[in-house]
Amino acid sequence: MPPHYSFQKLMDGIGKHPVFFFDFDGTLVELASTPDKVKFKPITKYILENLANIFPVGIISGRCLSDLQKMIAIDGIFYAGNHGVEVEGPGLSFIEPNTSRFRYLILNLLDELKAKLSSYNPLIEDKIYAIGIHYRTIDPLRVNDFLFEVTKILETPLNKNEIKVLNGKKVIEVKPPVEWNKGNSVKIILKHLKNDYAPFYFGDDLTDEFAFETVNELKGTSVLISNRNSLTKAKFILGSSNELMGILAQIISEYQ
Ligand SMILES: [Mg+2]
Repeated sequence: MPPHYSFQKLMDGIGKHPVFFFDFDGTLVELASTPDKVKFKPITKYILENLANIFPVGIISGRCLSDLQKMIAIDGIFYAGNHGVEVEGPGLSFIEPNTSRFRYLILNLLDELKAKLSSYNPLIEDKIYAIGIHYRTIDPLRVNDFLFEVTKILETPLNKNEIKVLNGKKVIEVKPPVEWNKGNSVKIILKHLKNDYAPFYFGDDLTDEFAFETVNELKGTSVLISNRNSLTKAKFILGSSNELMGILAQIISEYQ
C-alpha cells in the first residue's frame, strides 16, 4: 500500500509548473446511486476555482464531456470526457480521431441493452462514444443474473472486436476498441500547455490507473483516493475527497 499523502508531500513535489488533474466521481464528489444524483458541493467548486486561478487544472472523467462541463461549470479549466476521448479547454478542442465512427454501433447496442434488460430497470447511460451500464440500484439478489444477461449481449460484439468492456465501481463501461485512456488525455493537455509541467493526478477508480502510470512516467505525482487497502500504481494514497480538499485549501492559501 502506498504511503499516505499530505500537504507537505504536495509541497515537496510541486516544482515550477504544476498542473492539477482530477477525476470527478469518487474524487471530487462522493459516489451516489446513479451519476445524476452526485452532489458537487459549493465548497469544492470554490476551492477548484481558486486553484485554477493559480495553476492549470484539468478534470478527467468517464462521463461524457457535455455532462462533465454542465456539472462542474468552471471557466478556464480543461475537461476530458469519456476517459479522455473528448478534451476541451482554453485554446484546446480535441476528439480522438478513431472514435467518432462508433456512434452508430453505440446507438444499436443501446437499443438492444435497453430492450433486453428492461425487467431489471437499470440505468443505461448514453455517453455518445460509450455506454455506462450501472447496477448500483439493482436488487443485490438479482445482480448476478443481470451481469450474466449483460455478458450475453456483449459477447458477440466483443468477440468481433467491435467494442471493449471496462469494469468500474458498479458500472460496466462499453467503449470503442480504441487504444485510448485517461493517461493519453493528460499528455494531450500537457503538450498543449508546452512548458515543462509537473502533473499531479488524483483519482479513485481502476480507469485512473492509466493516468497514474502516465503521470509516474512524467515524474509527476499520482494519488489514489481510497479508504481501502488497494493495489494501485499511485505513489500515494488519501482516505477521502474531504482530505484532498483540505490539502488544496492549504496550497491555495500558500500561493495566494
Ligand atoms: Mg472516479
